[in-house]
Amino acid sequence: KQAPKIIMVSNRGAYNLQATDSGIQPVPAISGLVSAVEPFLKEKGGVWVAWGGREAPQENSPGVRLPVPQEDPAYTFLEVPLTAGEIKLYYHGFTNGALWPLCHYFLEKCRYNSQEWSTYVRVNAKFADAALMEAREGDTVWVNDYHLALVPAQIRHRKPQLRQFFFWHIPFPHHDLLATLPWAPQILRGLLGTDVLGFHLQSYVDNFLNAVATLLGARVDFEHNVVYWQQRRIHVGAWPMGVDYQAFQRQALNPGTRARAETLRSQLGVEHLALSVERLDYTKGILERLLAWERLLEEVPEWRGRAALVQIAVPSRTAVPAYRRLKEEVEAAVGRINGRFSEGSYRPVHYFWRGLPRQELVAYYLAADVMLVTPLRDGLNLVAKEYVASRRDSSGVLVLSRFAGAAQELKGAVLVNPYDIDGMAMILNTALNMSRAEQEKRMRLLQEKVRRHDIRWWLTCFHQAMMAREEETADVS
Ligand code: UDP
Repeated sequence: KQAPKIIMVSNRGAYNLQATDSGIQPVPAISGLVSAVEPFLKEKGGVWVAWGGREAPQENSPGVRLPVPQEDPAYTFLEVPLTAGEIKLYYHGFTNGALWPLCHYFLEKCRYNSQEWSTYVRVNAKFADAALMEAREGDTVWVNDYHLALVPAQIRHRKPQLRQFFFWHIPFPHHDLLATLPWAPQILRGLLGTDVLGFHLQSYVDNFLNAVATLLGARVDFEHNVVYWQQRRIHVGAWPMGVDYQAFQRQALNPGTRARAETLRSQLGVEHLALSVERLDYTKGILERLLAWERLLEEVPEWRGRAALVQIAVPSRTAVPAYRRLKEEVEAAVGRINGRFSEGSYRPVHYFWRGLPRQELVAYYLAADVMLVTPLRDGLNLVAKEYVASRRDSSGVLVLSRFAGAAQELKGAVLVNPYDIDGMAMILNTALNMSRAEQEKRMRLLQEKVRRHDIRWWLTCFHQAMMAREEETADVS
């Protein structure tokens, strides 16, 4: 008999698959989920069921199964192949054109389309099938995120005894907003197939509990975050994800990273460096931040020639029209600001449309005096925590949107309202002028929090919730 294993299920895994002359190759993928859970899977072994980010060669082609990482295999990657039609309707359509904007409060960007919905249902069933094929008695299935909300109930229906976790990584909206989605009850019933359901914040938990009470009429124990549903108890909890603090500290100490940070500083040639790094997404507030930077240079001319903003925008969801429009708007704003305020070799904004590998990212974190994380809405935001984890000497200022989930925990940050351009410009001025003593006081607070609530803490919380649930089940039976 095999030892129990973890079956991780998510839309994307730690690798994208690429066809090459020597066969299918796994190429490492960038995402917060990967940084958080891959080390866990590497340690424990198991299977990661995910789409490989490519179009399936044929309608019914089987998924590729690969031991990964290739150089030192620790777990199995199992591909859920998606056709071009499924990618369009399920991924670009329902998940990124309906659920993503809805959960981030961008109602005007939501498109509700029944063909996209039915493809979402079918693709969720494909993921459930793949997980079920792997699952043996005693295994745990851990499903992730809004792409796969129906998977828990689909699995429960066919293997009622299988242990299940679900983690929802983005905000969970108020039920008034959720109710605009014609299939909101199905999404909620899908999620209630799990045993333990995690969110980043208690406010998302509250929204979920209110939604199941209001839209499904489920019985809810609000005091203990429990839903009673179809003779089962579902435990809901708030566990904000952490980062691997020690790994970022080690990376920041690495001589190569430090040398690279020095080079960046001297190449950019300014006294004060501000940094923003994120996927090019309308939820991240990139345009509003650029407007605030422009306002700062208008209102406080001393910063011209002395302060520069590095804006790294990672290409994302380029097939979705809203993302293509945003790219044009952002690039026009960068062009305008640089046109207005560049002088000699000085440029006020350095814009890059690409993703950075970890070491390069940490070099930028080290080089930046001020980190601007100003999303209009964000489930949590790992970049804010990574900046804090990468500072070696407790200097540096984190400017953080009050609408990022991480603002609940990161009390030492300078909080901003990203919708208030004038207010943000003035806060940028304060951040650039902050004394070293004040920086250190704040950064120590931040580091203490990020170090204590790191990724291991997050995994332990989830594990304990699962164990508590098991003891309870044992009591009942
Ligand atoms: N990231 C990266 N390279 C980049 C930009 C981002 O590796 O050039 C990583 C970053 O380290 C973080 C993740 O991508 O772990 C982004 O997670 P976050 O929660 O900030 O935002 P999301 O993209 O999930 O909305």
